[in-house]
Amino acid sequence: MADTGVSRHQLLIDGKWVDAVDGATIATYDPSTGRKLADLAAAGPRDVDLAVAAARRAFDDGPWRRMPAEARARLLLRFADLIEEHADELALIDTRDCGKPYAFIRDIDLPNMSDLVRYMAGWATKLEGRTIPLSRQDPTAYLSYTRRQPVGVAAQVIPWNGAVLAATWKLAPALAAGCTVVLKPAELASLGPLRLAELAVEAGFPDGVVNVVTGTGVDAGAPLVAHPKVDKVAFTGSVETGKSIVAAAAGNLTKLTLELGGKSPNVIYDDADLDIAVDGALGAVLYAQGEACTAGSRLYVHRSIIGEVRAAIEAAVPKLRIGESSGRDVVVGPMISEQQRSKVARYVDGALEEGAEIIAGGARPRDPGYFLEPTVLGGVHDGMTVAREEIFGPVVSLMPFDDEAEVIRRANDTTFGLAAGVWTTDIGRAHRFAHAVNAGAVWVNCYNVFDAALPFGGFKQSGWGKEMGGEALDGYLQSKAITISMA
Ligand code: NAP
Ligand code: MG
Repeated sequence: MADTGVSRHQLLIDGKWVDAVDGATIATYDPSTGRKLADLAAAGPRDVDLAVAAARRAFDDGPWRRMPAEARARLLLRFADLIEEHADELALIDTRDCGKPYAFIRDIDLPNMSDLVRYMAGWATKLEGRTIPLSRQDPTAYLSYTRRQPVGVAAQVIPWNGAVLAATWKLAPALAAGCTVVLKPAELASLGPLRLAELAVEAGFPDGVVNVVTGTGVDAGAPLVAHPKVDKVAFTGSVETGKSIVAAAAGNLTKLTLELGGKSPNVIYDDADLDIAVDGALGAVLYAQGEACTAGSRLYVHRSIIGEVRAAIEAAVPKLRIGESSGRDVVVGPMISEQQRSKVARYVDGALEEGAEIIAGGARPRDPGYFLEPTVLGGVHDGMTVAREEIFGPVVSLMPFDDEAEVIRRANDTTFGLAAGVWTTDIGRAHRFAHAVNAGAVWVNCYNVFDAALPFGGFKQSGWGKEMGGEALDGYLQSKAITISMA
C-alpha cells in the first residue's frame, strides 16, 4: 500500500479480492489529520451471503477439514513470520487509520500478535479428547471417548481501537481450532485488518478459510451475525452493540463470545511506591488516549496520600507528548473521530456541571485532528455519570478512600468487570484485593500486561468467554462424546 495518496480496497471472499456486488464504497480517514486515507468496499447483505457461503464451503467440503493438524500449525507459523516481517508496515497502517500511537502498536501489539499466532499454532496439534470409563457399565462393554472438533464458520466482528491486534486475537484461535472465518472490521479502521488478511492469503490458508467483509455495522455486521449459516459469533465492541448481537444470534441460537467494555478500578494504597504507582495509574488510563477497554478510569487513592498523588499528577500530565499518532515519541494520539471527541468532551462537561473540577489537562486543541488533552478530574463521587459509564477517552476520576473493605466494595460497584489494578507493597493486601475484585484481569503494581498465554476476558457485562490462552480455543471447539459397544 502506498504511504501517500488514497488507496482502494476490496473484500476478501473465497481467496479473491472483489468489489461489493453493488459497487458501494466507504471512506476511511487519518484521525491525526482528518485526511482521507482510502476507499473501502462497503459490503451489504448480498456480499455477506457470498462470504459466509465461501466460509461454509471451505469448512464443509474444502481441504481445510482434512488437513493434518501439523499442516495447520505450519500455516499459522508462516503467518506469524509474515506478521513479524511486516511489523513496521502493519504498525504504520494501523496507527494512521485508528490513531493509536505508533510505538504502542509497533512495540506492544505487534510482538503480542506474532506470539499469539505461534502460541495457537502450538495448540493446533494438542486438541485432545479423553477416554471416559462409563460409570454404570462393565468396563469391557463400551469404549467411550471425546473428540474436540471445530465449531464451523465463525463470524468475527471487531472494533476500531487497536484493529490489527483485535483481528489477530480473533483469527488465531479460530484458525488453530480449524474453523473458517468471516471477519468484519470496524468501518473506521479496516486497513490494518485488510493488510493482515493479505498476509494470511500469502501464508497459504486455503481459499475461503479467511474472508473479510468491510463495511458498516448496520449493512455488513448485522446480516453477518444473524446469518443462519454462521455457527459461531465472536464480537468485540460496546455493551450496547453486544446486546443487539445477543438478540440477533438468539434467532439461530448461534454460539457467542463477547469482549465488551469496562469501567476499571485502579487503587493506590498509602504503602505503595508512589513514583511507580502514579506513572502506572496514568498509563493505565491514558494508554492509547483512553480508547482501550481496560482503561483504569476510576482511580481510588488512600486519603492520607491524595495531596501527594494530586501534585505528582499535576506535574506529570503536561509532560505527556500529544501529537500525530505516527510520531515516534507520541503517547497520546487523537480520538478516532470528531464524534468520539465530542462524546468524551460531553462527559467532562457533564462532570463539571455536577460539581467536579479539572486537576490536570482538559484542553481541547483545535482541528485538524481530533485531539483531546488528557483530563484528570477531582471532586467526583461514585454516583456521577463520569464514574459509572465507560468514557473511552483520556479521562480519569481521582477519588479518595479510607479503608480496604470500603474500596473493594466501591471497586465492585459497577455493571462491568473487565480489569482492575492495585498498587501496594503489602503482599497480603494485594492478594486480598485480587481475590475480592470482580474482574477478569487483575494487575498488581503493574497494568495492561498482556500475554499470548494468559486468558483475557470480562466478568459481568464486560463479556462472555476469553481471548488468548488455551481458554480462547473453547469458543471455537465443541466436544463430541462417542460410545462404541464392544459386545
Ligand atoms: P461498537 O460500536 O460496538 O462496534 C464494534 C463493531 O461492531 C464494529 O465493527 C461495528 O461496525 C460493529 N457493529 C455495530 N453495530 C452492529 C450490529 N448491529 N451488528 C453487528 N455489528 C455491529 O464499538 P466501537 O465503538 O467500535 O468500539 C468501542 C467499544 O469497544 C468500547 O465500548 C470498548 O470498551 C469496546 N472494546 C472492548 C474490548 C474488549 O476486549 N473487551 C476491546 C476493544 C474495545 P462499524 O463500527 O463499522 O459500524
Ligand atoms: Mg480511519
